[in-house]
Amino acid sequence: MICFENDDKKPISFNSNGKQLTVYVTKHYFDADLVINLAKMKTHNLTRITGAMKNLFGLVPGLAKAQWHKAFPRPIEFSDFITDLAHQLPCALSIMDAIEGMDGQGPAGGRVVKPGVLLAATSPVTVDLGFCGIVGLDPDSIPMLKRCQALGWGASSLDGIELAGEALESLKMRDYRVPRLAPISFIPESLLNFARRFVWAGPELLPDLCIKCGRCKKICPADAIEISANGAEFNRERCIACFCCMEVCPVDAIEMKTSLLLSLIFKMRGLKRKLRNHKK
Ligand code: SF4
Ligand code: SF4
Repeated sequence: MICFENDDKKPISFNSNGKQLTVYVTKHYFDADLVINLAKMKTHNLTRITGAMKNLFGLVPGLAKAQWHKAFPRPIEFSDFITDLAHQLPCALSIMDAIEGMDGQGPAGGRVVKPGVLLAATSPVTVDLGFCGIVGLDPDSIPMLKRCQALGWGASSLDGIELAGEALESLKMRDYRVPRLAPISFIPESLLNFARRFVWAGPELLPDLCIKCGRCKKICPADAIEISANGAEFNRERCIACFCCMEVCPVDAIEMKTSLLLSLIFKMRGLKRKLRNHKK
């Protein structure tokens, strides 16, 4: 077992979101004879899914990861960044452990699900397409997979991919819950500050669970957390809704809260989807 945090890093440079970036990646990636990418089947409030591509973001040591959230706080920009980074980090094999996974609110505190499946492919894009196929997600609704299409990286659907093992149809899950993309993703930059007053999602503390360990404060890229006698306190003005705090909390004491308007929008979208499915 290696702790990436304390070991040397090497820079890689690439273009993302119209900017030339330099990202520091653990040196172990470059030293290895063969890289195998082992991901879990999970959801994420920002990118919708945490699959094989997003797992490669784990090669960037912890605190630096939070700074990239700060650089690209909007879900689509962040998803593009993750995809552009993963594209720079080839691996020989990607495996997704979906024996037991998680749905609902991610990156932590969601519901445990047991698809009982292992997925493997030489491309992480194919594994993420398999994830979508099993849980009934349209790959076009996942910004990371849309970015792959723009890059011409991997397949755009499972059509034409040779599948081995169980037939996909027999693996399908009916009620896998995936967070929706926040409408704020589609609001132009000029209206963002105004819109944020009404349409926001962010962390909320479950005070009875908080053990005041301070891990959330340490990882927060926006310096939006204070630890008081009552536990973690979030500064909504500063928060960029990256959910890094949720990810590091050891006792799942943080959940996602949405504004009233955002909850209504999500409910209406859910209703529309149900009606659409009913008509099919
Ligand atoms: S990481 Fe979790 S338990 Fe620790 S202070 Fe933050 S909310 Fe509390
Ligand atoms: S409070 Fe949590 S969600 Fe908000 S910026 Fe800090 S780590 Fe991210």
